[in-house]
Amino acid sequence: MKRLPTLPALVSVTLLLAACGQSEPVTPGAALPETTLATAPDHAAPAAPLNTPQAPSPEAQDAARRLHEGYVPRGPSLHAQALPANAQTNRVALRVLVIGSGAGDFGLSSALSMVQESAIPYDVLDASAQPLTMDTLVRGDGVGRYQGVILTSSALLMPSSEPGPLPSALDSTEWQTLFEYERAYRVRQLALFGWPGAVPEDYGLRAVDGAATTLTTAQATPEGQRTLLDLTAQAMQVLYAYTYPAAVVPVPGVASTTPLLTDPQGRVLAATSTTSDGRERLLLTTMQAPTLPHTQLLGSGLLEWLTRGVHLGEHRRFLQIDIDDWFLPGTHYDAATGGFYSDPFRISGSDALSLREQQQAIETEFPAARTFRYALAYNGLGATPNAPLLCTRESLALSPDALSSASKCLGDTFDWVNHTHDHLRMDVMDEATATAQLQDNLWVGAQLGLKLSRAALVTGEQSGLGYMDPTDDGAHNNGLYQQPKQDLGLERSNVNLLTAMNKTNVRFIASDHSVHSQWDPGCPTCGVPHPLNPNVFLVPRWPNGVAYFSTTPDEVTGYYNSVYGPQGTAPYWDHNLSYAELLDQESGFALNHLLDGGAFPHYMHQANLREYAPGKSVASDWVRALLRRYSTFSTLPLTTLSWDDLGTYLERRTRTIHAQDRGDLSGVYDRTAGTVTLTSAAPLPYLLTGGVAGEPYGALRLQSGDVSGTLIVNVSAH
Ligand SMILES: [Zn+2]
Repeated sequence: MKRLPTLPALVSVTLLLAACGQSEPVTPGAALPETTLATAPDHAAPAAPLNTPQAPSPEAQDAARRLHEGYVPRGPSLHAQALPANAQTNRVALRVLVIGSGAGDFGLSSALSMVQESAIPYDVLDASAQPLTMDTLVRGDGVGRYQGVILTSSALLMPSSEPGPLPSALDSTEWQTLFEYERAYRVRQLALFGWPGAVPEDYGLRAVDGAATTLTTAQATPEGQRTLLDLTAQAMQVLYAYTYPAAVVPVPGVASTTPLLTDPQGRVLAATSTTSDGRERLLLTTMQAPTLPHTQLLGSGLLEWLTRGVHLGEHRRFLQIDIDDWFLPGTHYDAATGGFYSDPFRISGSDALSLREQQQAIETEFPAARTFRYALAYNGLGATPNAPLLCTRESLALSPDALSSASKCLGDTFDWVNHTHDHLRMDVMDEATATAQLQDNLWVGAQLGLKLSRAALVTGEQSGLGYMDPTDDGAHNNGLYQQPKQDLGLERSNVNLLTAMNKTNVRFIASDHSVHSQWDPGCPTCGVPHPLNPNVFLVPRWPNGVAYFSTTPDEVTGYYNSVYGPQGTAPYWDHNLSYAELLDQESGFALNHLLDGGAFPHYMHQANLREYAPGKSVASDWVRALLRRYSTFSTLPLTTLSWDDLGTYLERRTRTIHAQDRGDLSGVYDRTAGTVTLTSAAPLPYLLTGGVAGEPYGALRLQSGDVSGTLIVNVSAH
C-alpha cells in the first residue's frame, strides 16, 4: 500500500473532509490510504473481488451428477387424492408453493431468491418431512392455495452420499395429487433443474449421451423470447452449472414440448411441455444457483411464466447512481508514483457541465436507461452560494467559483441529495450540531437553486448508524478515527442524528450494504426501518471498484492493481487488469445487483467525474459498461427514481413484503371474473403485477396502491 505524502496542515484538513470513502468499508472501491488502514486493519484485506459468480458446492455438483438415478417410492396409492366436492377451480390464491427435497437441497436457495426478488408471497414445503395432500393445496372453501408450483428439482431426489438409487421426497400418491391439483386448477409447474428422463414424469426430453457439461452458453429461441419476455437473442454464459443438454422426443402423454433455450449445438437447455391432459410445465436442464448469471437473468421471466403475469409483488430493475462529495476537494491518487498528489482534487465547472452531456448520451445510447439521472450528494461547505449562475464553459472563467456557478445551471438536471454541510463523522455528535449540519446544507442547496430530495440524507462516511470506532468520543469528527470501525449494530446509532433527521423532516438515510447490520438478509429487496426511530428508514448502497480518489483510467487501474494485481497488497489476479478488463469485471458484479430486483444505489465520488477526455469520466465509463452488459441480455427498462421517491418506494415495498410474509396481505385471483381480490388486516400498501390500471413496465403492468380491508382489482386475462 502506498503512503500518503506529508501534507501541510491546511490541505490535510481539506483532504479529511473530502475523504468520503475513507471509512466506507468495502471492496477495492473505497480502499484506503495507508494512514487510514493503519488504524483500520479490517480494511487491510478488502472483500472484493468476490465479484465472480460462486460455483455450487461440491456436494451440489455431486447431487447434480446423480439426478438420473432417481425413483419414486410407492405411496398408499398410485392415484391422486380426490379433489374436494366444493373445489372452485377458477379461483387461486396469489401465492407460490416451493417444494424442496430437504437437507442438501441445492435448488432451494435459487427458488427463494427468485420469489423474493419479485416480492411474490410463497410457502416452502419440505417434501422430505411434510406430507403433501389435497388439503395442502386446496383451502376449506375450495379455493386453490397456490397459483404456481416450483420444484427445486424435477424429481425432488433426496441427496445421499451412498451409492444406489435415490428416492424422490414425494411418493407416488403425493406426485399424483400434485398433478391432479395442477390439472384441475390450471396451475403451472416450474422445475428449476432436472435430468431429462421419465421420473417422475416425462417432459418429452431426453439427455444427449455424453453431452453433460459445466460450461456452455444458452440462447433463447424465438419461442423462448416470447415466453421469457425480456430476453434478447444473445447467448448467455452458463458457468459452473451442471447441465444436461437434451433432445425433444415424442412420448405418450406429452402433447407438445417447446424448446426455450438451446446450447450452441441446438440442444435443449430449457423447454415448456404440455401434457395430454393440459398441464403446463417448464423444465430447465441446467443447474441454478443464486449468483450465477444465467439464474439471475432467467429468474423474473420464469416467474412471470409461472404466474401467467398476474401476481402480488413486482420485479422491477433500477439504475441508481450516487456521486458523493460534490463541492468538496478530495484526495487525488498519483498513478505515476503510487502515492498521492499534495494538492487535493475538486471537479471543475466544466466537468460539471460535461456530466450533463454524459448523462444525456447515456439516455440516448441505452433504451433501457431512458430515465437515468445521477444523484449528487453535495456538501455546502465547499460551495459559494452567491456565485453567478453560468451555463457555458467560456463564461465559467468569470466566476469566483465555477463549480458553484455550473451547479446553479444544473439545478434541475440531477437529483441533489443532502450529504451534510461539513462532511463530519456523526457517530458521536450532539443534537444541535447534527441538526445544523442537515439544515445548513439544505439552506445552501436552496440558495443554489438545486432541485433537492429534501427527505434524503447521506452522512459523511455513512456514519451515525453504529458502524464506528467504539472509542470515538466525537472530539475529532473532522479527523481520522483512532480504532478500527466495528459493526456495533443499529442500536448503537447516534440517536441525536435520528432526532435531527426528524426535526428537519429527513426520513431516508443511506446505509452501507457491506456492513452486516445495515441491510436485511432476510429480505434482499427491502430497506430497513430504523429500530430506534420509526420515522427513519435505511436505504442500503453498494460500493464498487472505482477508488474515490481516481480521476482517470490510469489512476483507477493503478490503484486497483496495487491492491489486486499479482504484486498487489491483496493479490487476486494473475496479471494487472487493463481498464477494459476492470470495467468488464465491475459490470459483472454490478449486473448482479441490477438483476436482483433491489433498488439500492451504487455510489462513487466527485473525483470520478473529471472529464479526463472529451465527454468521458470514469464514473460514466462505469455506468456505460454496466449498461452495455445489461442491454446485451435484457430489454427490461431500468427505473431511476429521485432519492425522495426511492425512499418512499422502498419503504412501501418493504412494508408490503413484510405484510405478505406475516399473512396480513393476500390476494385471490378469480380467472372467470378477471379480478384479484386483495385482503389486508390493516391499511397497507400493495404491489400487483398484471393489474389493468398498472403502469406499463416492459411487457407487463405494475400496479400499486393502498388497501384497507378488501379491494377488487381488474387484471389482464391470461
Ligand atoms: Zn462523502
